[in-house]
Amino acid sequence: NMIAAGEVIERPASVVKELMENSLDAGATQINVYVEDGGRNLIAVADNGCGMEADDLELAFEPHATSKLSTIADLLNISTMGFRGEALASIASVAKVSIVSRCRDKIEANKIEIDCGDKDSIRPCSGDVGTTVEVRNLFYKLPARRKFLRTVNTEITHIVEQFTRMALARTDIGMTLAHNKKELYRLKANESVRERIAKLFNDETAQSLLELQSSERDIKLAAMLGRPDSGRANSKFQYFFLNGRFIRDKFLLHAVKEAYRGLMEPDKYPIVFLFLQMPPQ
Ligand code: ADP
Ligand code: MG
Repeated sequence: NMIAAGEVIERPASVVKELMENSLDAGATQINVYVEDGGRNLIAVADNGCGMEADDLELAFEPHATSKLSTIADLLNISTMGFRGEALASIASVAKVSIVSRCRDKIEANKIEIDCGDKDSIRPCSGDVGTTVEVRNLFYKLPARRKFLRTVNTEITHIVEQFTRMALARTDIGMTLAHNKKELYRLKANESVRERIAKLFNDETAQSLLELQSSERDIKLAAMLGRPDSGRANSKFQYFFLNGRFIRDKFLLHAVKEAYRGLMEPDKYPIVFLFLQMPPQ
């Protein structure tokens, strides 16, 4: 688990990503993220998703335990964010983790605590429908890893970036992000991509973007595009999503560059938010 954690959990932002993805997979319509000290002391993600039964809550931390695959054939048709069953096991092996979870049809929640792999027994408690995961003191028993955490500012910048990707990919979900008691973002469910861009970046950029939709065979494309005179010095404003997942892809980067060729200085990067949907097969 600790070796897997080395791959899955690079920094606090990776924890935020994995936990938010789990909340999305649980069918949440609201996800609230709270972070202290750039995530080194606390990362808490609360959702109103389907929750877990007591026995599933115990299993969720086992390596390769996932509820997202039932048959081999499912591997060819993946529509969830996770499916490897590694995130919770990894996180719980390098931090102090507590989970409170309650299913929709239950009156009581259950709580389990795991301290760097040491599991406490599960017990009933009060709690809202859904799941709240708290991750404290990331890497505290691994001084070499903890030492590699950067300043609070750098870590929170990475967390904001992960949150931004998720918030752009899933405008149907309400999301908040707060850091050290200060609210950074409050995004309502079912906002338009333009509204999200306005809140996550700035209003002026959002209002200037051109909206485009197109489809060919089974592939649907939606995009918000910067005007040719709004080229940037770097690719920070280029976001690509495939089936709700943020991706980086050289081919797509190249296609966008080609599309703007002749309209923009060759050393400039157009503002692009591009959303592709295609059957998971
Ligand atoms: P994966 O997402 O790849 O299945 P994880 O380690 O991230 O693996 O999670 C393990 C399992 O725990 C999930 O398959 C899911 O059944 C359950 N789980 C994790 N987070 C949540 C959540 N927020 N709400 C409901 N179930 C969850
Ligand atoms: Mg997961």
